[in-house]
Amino acid sequence: MAITRRQFLRRGAITIAAASLNQSQLSGAVRAIVLSGPAKKVLVLGAGMAGLVAAYELTKLGHDVTVLEARTRPGGRVHTLREPFSDGLFAEAGAARIPDNHDLTHKYVKEFALPLEPFYPSRLNALRFDRGDREEVPIEGFTDAMTRHFGEDLGGNPERWQKIKGGTDMLPKAFAELLGDKIHYGSPVVKIEQDGKQARVVFLNAGRQQTMTADNVLCTIPFSVLRNIELPALSSQKRDLIKNTRYDAVARVYLQTRNRVWEEKGLNGFALTGGAIEIWQPTWNLPGPRGILMTYARPGEAERITKLKESERIATTLKQLDGMFSGLGESFERGATKCWTEDEWSRGAWAFVGFANFGRGIAPDGRIHFAGEHLSQWSSWIQGALASGLRAVKEIDEFVKV
Ligand SMILES: Cc1cc2nc3c(=O)[nH]c(=O)nc-3n(C[C@H](O)[C@H](O)[C@H](O)COP(=O)(O)OP(=O)(O)OC[C@H]3O[C@@H](n4cnc5c(N)ncnc54)[C@H](O)[C@@H]3O)c2cc1C
Repeated sequence: MAITRRQFLRRGAITIAAASLNQSQLSGAVRAIVLSGPAKKVLVLGAGMAGLVAAYELTKLGHDVTVLEARTRPGGRVHTLREPFSDGLFAEAGAARIPDNHDLTHKYVKEFALPLEPFYPSRLNALRFDRGDREEVPIEGFTDAMTRHFGEDLGGNPERWQKIKGGTDMLPKAFAELLGDKIHYGSPVVKIEQDGKQARVVFLNAGRQQTMTADNVLCTIPFSVLRNIELPALSSQKRDLIKNTRYDAVARVYLQTRNRVWEEKGLNGFALTGGAIEIWQPTWNLPGPRGILMTYARPGEAERITKLKESERIATTLKQLDGMFSGLGESFERGATKCWTEDEWSRGAWAFVGFANFGRGIAPDGRIHFAGEHLSQWSSWIQGALASGLRAVKEIDEFVKV
């Protein structure tokens, strides 16, 4: 059963109060409820960060919002892996690091009163292999190697990087809890169409086709997936852009060990290989004795890893890391992997439509609006998904019904 706007606001107010926001923040949230026109029926496609923020803010504005999500969980590329790990340990499949200058990400983390903690450990040494020989360096040496390979955006002072305590998925879960049964899970969209009067979305529910109509549709489905959906109502320019936007590959391999053998050798489990594969220990501030080391490979290396069978990905990574952290092989218990190009609902890690296509990418096509990290200046970040979602909220709120 869908909740009413009044119930949504009440539920939001209760959660906000429980999250102990101060009175001025609370009244600020309530003051934001000013519709620029009549309430609209809006269908949001995708419950990733772009879709969730848009659904949340559109509902606060008083619009009638329904979200269709193909997966059985919210968050999309924000996904914390809790299985198959033991003792409550977890690691991130997608978004993990929040830099201090991502104001929108910080705004919503604060709005839901989610605690942040340092991303990097300040004790023990990291390893770097990117300058030739093996080097043991303080964590600043690791972020310096990151700057060298990926630029300031991914490096700099380690203290500027934080993570959400308990896992990044706490953020989408906070949005989803407020939206409640406005989100329809397990509902993959197969067709988006429109005429002069309304937009229509065809989706599957338990394998059966259903149709919903709306004044406006906000599509946050990654272009890599959208290109396989029927889009008869879109301009050929938009369809070309959707078809030709290239998505990057990312592969991650996780190794759970009985003990944190690297710590006995004065290492914190962070490293950058000669091929610029990052190695993290996401468990450095979780209770032991077990631990997880994980690799993070970007385009160039990620495609090679993705081609391997799961067991081979784990075996080759274990061999590689055993050479860096001696004793790892003996302590190894189980592995897991995540390769984003094989994820049915992402088909890649991230994309950017390109500066030449930016305006064409974000422009609505009639009643169909678009958002997602690929349509923002912060592509490949939560911040980008949020910014694009908020831009679309404004567009839809100001859309004039004819
Ligand atoms: C490996 C990796 C590392 C990252 N690291 C960071 C980081 O450290 N910090 C950071 O800030 N960001 C990071 N990001 C980026 C961040 O996760 C994304 O930018 C952001 O989550 C994208 O949100 P979105 O809403 O645009 O897309 P998505 O999260 O992809 O949301 C789209 C939603 O649409 C759904 N969907 C797809 N097809 C259909 C369909 N047919 N019907 C209905 N629903 C559908 C999907 O299931 C998904 O839920 C990382 C991403 C990856 C992949």
